[in-house]
Amino acid sequence: MAWTRFAKKKDMPGGLWIKCESCGAMLFRKEFEQKNRVCGTCGYHFTLPGRERIALTADHGTFVEMWTDLQPVDRLCFNDKVLYSEKLKATQAKTGETEAMIAGTANIKGIPCVLGVMNFAFLGGSMGMVVGEKIARCIEHATEKGLPVVLFACSGGARMHEGAISLMQMAKTCGALAMQNRKGGISISVMTHPTTGGVTASFASACDLLIAEPGALIGFAGPRVIATTIKKELPKGFQRAEFLLEKGQIDRIVPRSQMKDELARLLAYATGRDPVAAYKPQAVAAEPVIEVPPLPLSEEEPEPKSKPKRKKGKQG
Ligand SMILES: [Zn+2]
Repeated sequence: MAWTRFAKKKDMPGGLWIKCESCGAMLFRKEFEQKNRVCGTCGYHFTLPGRERIALTADHGTFVEMWTDLQPVDRLCFNDKVLYSEKLKATQAKTGETEAMIAGTANIKGIPCVLGVMNFAFLGGSMGMVVGEKIARCIEHATEKGLPVVLFACSGGARMHEGAISLMQMAKTCGALAMQNRKGGISISVMTHPTTGGVTASFASACDLLIAEPGALIGFAGPRVIATTIKKELPKGFQRAEFLLEKGQIDRIVPRSQMKDELARLLAYATGRDPVAAYKPQAVAAEPVIEVPPLPLSEEEPEPKSKPKRKKGKQG
């Protein structure tokens, strides 16, 4: 029909498809969610919301959230077009979270640990007084209870709205790590896309083991700022996880699909817990293996065959 020539090109049905930020492929949202927000075409790891990260990492039903009463305060009455206090209220309403950090205790394949996850959806996962305090408490709690601590970083850096208060979180979190180290505790940092600024420059790089997700941007100042400052073209892959592994800044790169297994393996090694009881490796080949009844010593719940359920409410 003639009129179709003038009709506006129909957009993709709202939310059904999403475009990969890296390769531009159109991804069917349902499939994309099933792959835990990893592009099926190029393997690009999209930023994962904090709650989804916990559901993917902690054994089902074991995460007990702590320090939920900590609330950010606008000490400087900071105003950048919008008052920081107003921005906080709006972000809390939008995300349903009080801050950019979700922390508590959990089991990873049967091994108890303290788990802290940064939530990028909350003001770019920026580290202010509450985020820094929660991280410090995670580490201190781990030290006190003799538990390993696992921290997932995903942040634009220190929160400028809190000025020097946000910067002192860098020293505070590193201080807590030093204390934990002295007591023989173990800390694992998982740097996800993006981990930048004061977060990279503090606890995220100061843990015993530094893991990154593939392709994650990890750095202090952004690549554009550096290129402009030094007036030189940056090397290929600069500040990406693979580049940093090659230069020795991180210990390993672990794809999201293998993260839980790898964390369990490392925690088992670090804590000396029976890795057979704690760690049940998934099939090396892509094909599923025959289900074996759990050993008497194995974790309480067998690894679900399907991916963990999504859209879960707050746990614990
Ligand atoms: Zn892609």
